[in-house]
Amino acid sequence: MKKFLFLMLFTSILLSCTGKTEVLKSPDGNFKVNFSVKDGEMFYSVFWKDNLLMDKSPLGIKTVSEDFTEGIKYSGTSGVRTVTKNYELKNGKKRHIKYIANEIEYTVINKSHTELSVIFRASNDGVSFRYKINGQGNEIILSENSGFRLPAGTKGFLTPLSKAKSGWALTNPSYEENYHVEVPLETVSDYGQGWTYPALFEVMEGCWVLLSETGTDRNYVATHLSDIDNGVYFVEFPHDDHNLPEDHSYAEVELPYSTPWRTITAGSLADVMESTMAQDLVDPLYEAKFDYVPGRVAWSWVILKDRNTVFDVQKDYIDMAEELGWEYLLIDALWDTQIGRDKIAELAEYGASKNVGVMLWYNSNGDWNDAPQSPKNLMDDREIRRKEMEWMQSIGIKGIKVDFFGGDKQVAMRLYDDILRDANDYGIMVNFHGTTLPRGWEIMYPNFMTSEAVKGQEFVTMDQAVADNQAAHVASVVFTRNVVGAMDFTPVALNVRLGDVKTRGPFRRTTAGFELSMPVIMTSGLQHFAIVPDNLKEFPEFVVNYLSEIPVTWDETRFLDGYPGKYAVIARRSGDRWYIAGFNGEGDERQVNFDVSFFAEEVDAIAILDIPFIISGSFNMVAMSEITIPNNKKIEHTIPSNGGFVIIIE
Ligand code: CA
Repeated sequence: MKKFLFLMLFTSILLSCTGKTEVLKSPDGNFKVNFSVKDGEMFYSVFWKDNLLMDKSPLGIKTVSEDFTEGIKYSGTSGVRTVTKNYELKNGKKRHIKYIANEIEYTVINKSHTELSVIFRASNDGVSFRYKINGQGNEIILSENSGFRLPAGTKGFLTPLSKAKSGWALTNPSYEENYHVEVPLETVSDYGQGWTYPALFEVMEGCWVLLSETGTDRNYVATHLSDIDNGVYFVEFPHDDHNLPEDHSYAEVELPYSTPWRTITAGSLADVMESTMAQDLVDPLYEAKFDYVPGRVAWSWVILKDRNTVFDVQKDYIDMAEELGWEYLLIDALWDTQIGRDKIAELAEYGASKNVGVMLWYNSNGDWNDAPQSPKNLMDDREIRRKEMEWMQSIGIKGIKVDFFGGDKQVAMRLYDDILRDANDYGIMVNFHGTTLPRGWEIMYPNFMTSEAVKGQEFVTMDQAVADNQAAHVASVVFTRNVVGAMDFTPVALNVRLGDVKTRGPFRRTTAGFELSMPVIMTSGLQHFAIVPDNLKEFPEFVVNYLSEIPVTWDETRFLDGYPGKYAVIARRSGDRWYIAGFNGEGDERQVNFDVSFFAEEVDAIAILDIPFIISGSFNMVAMSEITIPNNKKIEHTIPSNGGFVIIIE
């Protein structure tokens, strides 16, 4: 028997090394990739549990000197190799990750007999691919012919790329658009610019695909999806009008070069929601020189706006952060003129005495936007930037929020990369706003904490129509944007009107239960809360305790129920404590049913629940009650319209 087993093992190793196979399978066997060359062109198909997800979709890349889109001949494969990696994700939905995937490298030659490799990975949560161009010296990559052909009948959950030089002070594109929900594949993007990642698709009931990219750094451009073209979404380079006209849209690389990964995360909705593919495929670009600690952040600007970026208000917010045991305070735009550098140093010292680290806002520019907010022109020049960071370090500043980038060209990717590397020299954490999607950056850059790249809470505070739609919008972004990376939505507003006494602001349409569910639903290495100091007096003690104990990073995540654009129930664990949060993005109440059989025993829990309007006459009242999770581990709960809940289990 032993001999037989040995023979079997030997045979399987032999088979995997011969390289004759052209079919790649995921370790669990559920995903299958076919690669083919036909009439001089490259294609791939992807299957999940024998369902077709990607139908004969195009591949290829064009450089200044080589064309790998036609006249292609198949040359060989590496054979399947297994890739494993155990790593820690300090900023996200799971902490200890055991990654396993199968990888295959197909080699082709073009008309001029130059070699190109197409590398495919299949993991249990989907398929990814990238190109490797061999050779030496500099090369210019002009475009990719990579595409995605989804089966007919697929429904899309898509967000458009904004038109360049549109929006606030011409700062677009900054990934701050609405999602279209359950739209046909033929849908044309709002501005004719294509769609941004991540793009979600329901191929058939219970079968989902999330398209994105990861591993983008200073060596490439950030890409997006084209409008659908003969049934194919193509990977498209930034448009010429991104950033400044003189900045090139192509990518300058040094050979040999491997492109970022194109990712097809797929399976059940839970498979997609729990996936860490964007982080699994990348490695750190440098070591952390300091200990960067994720945390909760007090932040006045979202409700109180520019005119409250003044010393006394910021000091009050430090006191609020101290009361809640929160780690940080963010001081937003105009601190340089409305507070001044000496007083900022005083606030940093006051914060340090209360264990509250102070972070500062900066305008990214440069000449690429007209945003008047200062401080300006301190982040785009290496010498000036490093001098500024040296000052920050000298007064104990812990992080920066850099805003208004305006495009996906390589010049922008270099600026993100430069800011992050320099900040690491001075122990500074980085948060980008008015920005592109982070593409694996939590791992690649150890001091990268979060990005906006979402139509977040700030829009809710500026426009009643956005506030009216907030709950549904959140139900889109948690299934898309937040799946691939830290998302600085800046949630949890408890004011009835989202402004100060003077500005008043739009009426909030979500319940208190909805708002309190958000720090569990949304993940961000720095979670900026939209609460104001008065909220601590207005709400019961259990709310204050909840806000003071809520973690920002998680050991484990389980998706329990939900549908994009409608509602979600998500369980996350931190240490021995589970938080189960749910919310309803629709106008009617929603009954949710979910299974918590991952708890071994009968458990007692506490729940924070909306007090229904019919009883309280308010949408801003919550109650805490003790509950017992039943023996069958099935929970049934009705969430009011725009409402939410949190269950906490030790
Ligand atoms: Ca913004």
